[in-house]
Amino acid sequence: MPRIAYVNGRYIPHQSAQIHIEDRGFQFADGIYEVVALMDGELRDEVGHLDRLERSLGEIGIAMPMPRRVLQIAMREMVRRNRIKNGALYIQVSRGIAARDFKFPSPAVRPTLVMTLRHMTFDIPARKAAAKPVITVPDIRWKRRDIKSTALLGQVLAKQIAVNEGAAEAWMVDDDGFITEGASSNAWIIDAKGRLITRPAAHNAILKGVTRSALQALCKQEGIELVERAFTPKEAYKAREAFTSSATALIMPVSSIDGHKIGNGKIGPVTDKLYDLYMEYAMNPSRKEQKWNPR
Ligand code: PLP
Repeated sequence: MPRIAYVNGRYIPHQSAQIHIEDRGFQFADGIYEVVALMDGELRDEVGHLDRLERSLGEIGIAMPMPRRVLQIAMREMVRRNRIKNGALYIQVSRGIAARDFKFPSPAVRPTLVMTLRHMTFDIPARKAAAKPVITVPDIRWKRRDIKSTALLGQVLAKQIAVNEGAAEAWMVDDDGFITEGASSNAWIIDAKGRLITRPAAHNAILKGVTRSALQALCKQEGIELVERAFTPKEAYKAREAFTSSATALIMPVSSIDGHKIGNGKIGPVTDKLYDLYMEYAMNPSRKEQKWNPR
């Protein structure tokens, strides 16, 4: 069964899928992306990801490549053609193809839309059992971290430092000494008093994670105290528990931060409970947005 990619309206074998060399996504990283988890054949938190896609595109003046309903049909077609039940669907939209020039092409050109789908397993007990180390690195990115830009060089460099140091994620630290977020995740700690803490999404300092928003809503629903404030690496070293959240890594328990062991180095009770709540939420097909079907 060959892997199928989507490029501008065509479903193409993955290994022969191509974009133009003057695509602005390639030339300038002038584009936006989204990653949606496919779990048990369902695109999880699809509405949240599409809302953020539209918002990010709007922030940089790129039109939606097609109406949302049509895009959703193409997303389902990708799932169907790839015959995958669990994985990650990548949606990438660039400003389109134009002779290399910084300013926006005028008149506007057709945005490029690329989708790829890759298989992934979501073995929750194994993931829960695998608490992982994180390190901190300076956050060298731009100031619009609320936009899910394809310009990911800051994150690429941060992740490579993490890999070189045997860590699973890099938590980035802003110029004032506060953790912003992970290179591809949001960062959370639980302090000595058992309070859950994560950085606010205000002031464009972080990406407003769709998983983060779901966890926030679950905390509200379950009466779990959540404090939205920035925290430093020093505070994080003393945390009782720590974890990251993202669409495909879900909730990743953190075993150590910069070599400082967190709790007993394993998933803690609050993280464990949140994981269960999140999975119940993610896998519940009765939720309104999951029921929606464009066909
Ligand atoms: N922050 C950054 C920088 C990310 O790249 C991601 C996901 O890729 C997240 C946070 C988590 O966002 P989400 O939960 O929507 O996947």
